[in-house]
Amino acid sequence: MSRFIPLSVPNFEGNEKKYVDDAIEQGWVSTGGAYITALEKKLAEFLETENVAACQSGTSALHLSLVEAGVKPGDTVIVPPLTFIAAVNPVKYQFATPVFIDCDDSFCMDPAKLRSFCEEECAWDGEILRHNGSHVKALVVVHVFGNMADMESIMEIAKAYNLKVIEDATEALGTRYIEGRFSGKYAGTIGDFGAYSFNGNKIITTGGGGAVTAADPEVVDHIRFLSTQAKTDPHYYIHDEVGYNYRMTNLQAALGVAQMEELPEFIRRKQKNYEQYKAEFEDFDLCELMPFRKGTESNKWFYALSIDRSKIKASMREIITSLQDRGIQTRAIWGLINEQKPYEGEETYKLEKAPYYAERILNIPCSTQITEEEITFAADTIKELFRSLANG
Ligand SMILES: *Cc1c(COP(=O)(O)O)cnc(C)c1O
Repeated sequence: MSRFIPLSVPNFEGNEKKYVDDAIEQGWVSTGGAYITALEKKLAEFLETENVAACQSGTSALHLSLVEAGVKPGDTVIVPPLTFIAAVNPVKYQFATPVFIDCDDSFCMDPAKLRSFCEEECAWDGEILRHNGSHVKALVVVHVFGNMADMESIMEIAKAYNLKVIEDATEALGTRYIEGRFSGKYAGTIGDFGAYSFNGNKIITTGGGGAVTAADPEVVDHIRFLSTQAKTDPHYYIHDEVGYNYRMTNLQAALGVAQMEELPEFIRRKQKNYEQYKAEFEDFDLCELMPFRKGTESNKWFYALSIDRSKIKASMREIITSLQDRGIQTRAIWGLINEQKPYEGEETYKLEKAPYYAERILNIPCSTQITEEEITFAADTIKELFRSLANG
């Protein structure tokens, strides 16, 4: 009998149906309703932060963070090349200019290169960092696959050069430091802004949705205000700023409240499944299961296999379709953002690891419902294919 193990599917084993039914019965389905505030409260409690605003998407959460950081047309924003393009597109929404800085072996921004870019490619007058005359206002750091970026170093550099730090924690809800200066701190609560996503394959989902937090709780209030069309008066339609329709709906939030109840269990399963994969690939020499940063506890959202390209020459397309034929759904890591059409000609800085990993990384099945037996089957199938590709 043929079988199919998906890459990542949502898990609705909890109160999802019950709460969504409840929202419908009450008639509160749009951008007002008790589930939205309940979800914001739950997120704030979980993240041990004061204030969280629920949004339509992770992308809108990132966009509002840039707006609030004061990123304006002509400013420069430092961004990563190897991640989902939604982390960088909001820079374009603001008509600002991205500069792509390389990643390290965690796939997250390399702080050494960030530092040398600021020191060697920019001018610092004690207040403003300038690159080719443009104000370098912010950096977007992505916690790729749930792996924490080196925030100790990044925050130090950002502080030295007055850069606003926007953490794209869309893949890293629940990842935190357990050692060092930020011990106990969750991804998204270390920089000036933290954005989360609840899209379909994220660790919790609201269908589509996101959230944003900020170091200053009043800034979160203003983000919430902007996300609801910036209406200043409860009775009259008075608007003193350009607002957005970026608020989460109560229907989405109902799903989110149920998902938050299960988040600790989802993280536990992701971590346990990672350990099993680790054992499966331990002594296998054609690929390596990439580790997560020491001193952190990751949500282990996505698992990354790094393929030994000296032995396996097959294209990612060939590998993915061969595994698909054998019942295993996998995914290639993203194409470099600086190579995508809208970003042609934008500046890059010392890209080495990003292109290296772009042709090696394969994501493997990681749903919270996957069974032990399915993981063994997936790992065996991958190993068997890699052996045959290495020999052929
Ligand atoms: C998912 C994701 C986003 C966007 O979130 P949406 O909710 O889909 O808008 C942004 N950045 C990264 C790194 C992501 O993985």
